[in-house]
Parts: sequence; structure tokens; C-alpha cells
Amino acid sequence: MGGDENAAVMLLDKLIAAKVICRGFVLGCAVCKHGAWYSLADLTDEFRCARCGRKQTISRQHWREPAAPQIFYKLDEIVYQFLKSDGDVVALGLDYMARNSKHPFNYSPEIEFRKSDSTLIGEIDFCAVYDGLLTIGEAKKKGELASSNGEARKIIEKYARLANMLNARRVLFCTTSQEWKSSTVEAVQRAFQGKPTVPTFVATEDLLGKPSTQN
Ligand SMILES: [Zn+2]
Repeated sequence: MGGDENAAVMLLDKLIAAKVICRGFVLGCAVCKHGAWYSLADLTDEFRCARCGRKQTISRQHWREPAAPQIFYKLDEIVYQFLKSDGDVVALGLDYMARNSKHPFNYSPEIEFRKSDSTLIGEIDFCAVYDGLLTIGEAKKKGELASSNGEARKIIEKYARLANMLNARRVLFCTTSQEWKSSTVEAVQRAFQGKPTVPTFVATEDLLGKPSTQN
């Protein structure tokens, strides 16, 4: 918040009301020395150690600094997992399509395709009817599909294969980075050359509101 304490406090209140984070203490067990975060919701004057299960009256020996125990904030586990697996990029990508679609919009997040014997064919981050066209896509925080070219090629081949199988006419690559790496864009364009499926690249500016696309 740029060092603005009031703004930070207001943001914390807002996130707590939305149950995105919650307040608690970090306490160390006097018996087994296990340090852990405990929600205020679970505390009285006592706490039960998360490891050894011993019940203890909260006292000075259970925290480090300062004289009174400090509040620690914990990010909600579901929100944490959502952000960890780039769920925010998927949500922004779907919002981008919903805003820019001139026709009724519909979507499904993450789909796995399996053969009849249940072997995995591939997984996509989202599938949508965007502007009247079946669209599948990938969402990444970093503007690259993978850290190695070999892994990126596998992902591109998977999308080319699935687009063909589903007759999807568009593959949308979304990133919350400034832009997609040029080698990624070139590799994707090469893979889709001459095919009825059009790859589209969307970066953070598009996702957060400006209506232009990189390609
Ligand atoms: Zn313990």
C-alpha cells in the first residue's frame, strides 16, 4: 500500500470481512516446541498444541516478541490454492471473454479429457463459447508456457491436438504478465499455421480492462 498505514488497515478489514484472510496468533508449544498459527476463532485464554495436543494457558513463554502477542494473518487455504494454481488468471481470462463477447457467453473451468479406458488425453484450463466460437485455453502467471522449450512444445502440441479433436476455432493464451514471451508466440503460431484454429494471446492490460490484444 506504499507505506500508507490507514490504507493497509482498511484493506485488511476488507479482506477479513470477505474471509480471504483471518487473524490469529503464532504460538510455540511449551512441551514439544512446535510453533504454529492459531485462529482467533479457536482461542480462549488457552490453546491446544496442533502437534502434541497438550492444552496450555497462553502466557509469555508461548510467543517471541514483543511483550504482548502480535496478530498474524493467514490466507484462506482455498484462496491460497486458487492463486497457487493460477486460478486468478483463469478467472480474469473468463472475465475478459465475457466482456468482449458480442454473443451469449458460457464457460467451464478446467476440463480433463480421457479415453474410454480413462487414460488422460489432456487437460485444459478453460473451455468457453466466446463470441459464438468454441474456445479452449491456457492461463499462466508468467508469459511462457513452460520453463523449457521441450515442455512448452508438449503443451502447444496438446492444444493443437485438442483443438482439432473438439473442433475449437480459437485457443486463448492468457497471462497476467506484461506480455507473452516472443519465442512462445512464434512457436504457437507455427503450430497453428494453416489450421482452422486461431491462437490469440492476451496479457495483463487486456485482462484488467483495455480491449486490445497482442495478436
Ligand atoms: Zn506441543
